[in-house]
Amino acid sequence: MPLVSMRQLLDEAAKGGYGVGAFNVNDMEQIQAIMMAAKETKSPVIVQASRGARQFAEDLYLFRLIQAAAELNPDIPIAMHQDHGNSFETCKSAITLGYTSVMMDGSLKEDGKTPSSFEENVEVTRRVVDYAHERGVTVEGEIGVLGGVEDGHGAGGSGLDHITDPDQAVEFAERTGVDALAIAIGTSHGAYKFTKKPDGSVLKMDVLIAIHKRLPKTHLVMHGSSSVPKDLQDIVNKYGGNLKETWGVPVEEIQLGIRNGVRKVNVDTDNRLAITGAIRKVFAETPEKFDPRDYMKPAREAMKKVVAQRMVEFGQAGHAGDYSPIAIAEIAKGYKDGSLSTQPLVAAK
Ligand SMILES: [Zn+2]
Repeated sequence: MPLVSMRQLLDEAAKGGYGVGAFNVNDMEQIQAIMMAAKETKSPVIVQASRGARQFAEDLYLFRLIQAAAELNPDIPIAMHQDHGNSFETCKSAITLGYTSVMMDGSLKEDGKTPSSFEENVEVTRRVVDYAHERGVTVEGEIGVLGGVEDGHGAGGSGLDHITDPDQAVEFAERTGVDALAIAIGTSHGAYKFTKKPDGSVLKMDVLIAIHKRLPKTHLVMHGSSSVPKDLQDIVNKYGGNLKETWGVPVEEIQLGIRNGVRKVNVDTDNRLAITGAIRKVFAETPEKFDPRDYMKPAREAMKKVVAQRMVEFGQAGHAGDYSPIAIAEIAKGYKDGSLSTQPLVAAK
């Protein structure tokens, strides 16, 4: 199956009332882990690469691996997404490679660190939307600023510094025409999200619910949504790691989000922890081993297990065969003739 439009994946998820995990990749084993999980759970899936990943793996290696995944798994709808594009040029280069979706994170300036103004964000995102939609490519925007830093991207600080204002979210969606919108509700990138189990005072689920009510057709995205489970932290620490105690976003909170318009859920940290724990275990228990396959295989298996579990928890499991992919050229026509418009923003009474 060719790579699928992320918009189609998310529209189907909205119809079915489930969320779709978007898992970050940097190498072959991570892509294989995701595909093994998708196959086992019969899940449509979003695979995403950050700018750091594209640099680490080199664009062509990474993109060819994704194409191989699509070819080897004809029954699984896969969307390939640029995570946190920092500029029009970054998004354009992903589209040229063949990515079926891009995130234009205009909430930060091009340096990926400094918060931008609302007008700057609208302007650059609108430009990406025009370019992408003409080519049938999906666009995710971001309004508000997430906490933390990942892959050198992020404003740092707490997730509570720049919570999305629902009025601004509506204006942003209206003026940019994005398909999906990442909102800041208190989550952060990286492993150190919360110093205690998060509750209503840290995760602003009421803001999310308010935004979904006003933007029923715009798919909401939760970033920084690893759950950072204690058992994965414990494995890393048991075998020589040194992670401080930390809490992620509880799966129940993500599920509450999914019931309220969240269709894309970004998960990276949990997979990193699973891989590192598995490798550390092999190194600690069998220090005589030196064939990379001896630790890459259990690492891949450990990541697969986490991904499969999230696919079940987010509800995407079992939905791979629900629909046939629409060709990207047809999607482009849908944007042009207005049938894929996310406007009007507010549902008719
Ligand atoms: Zn993110």
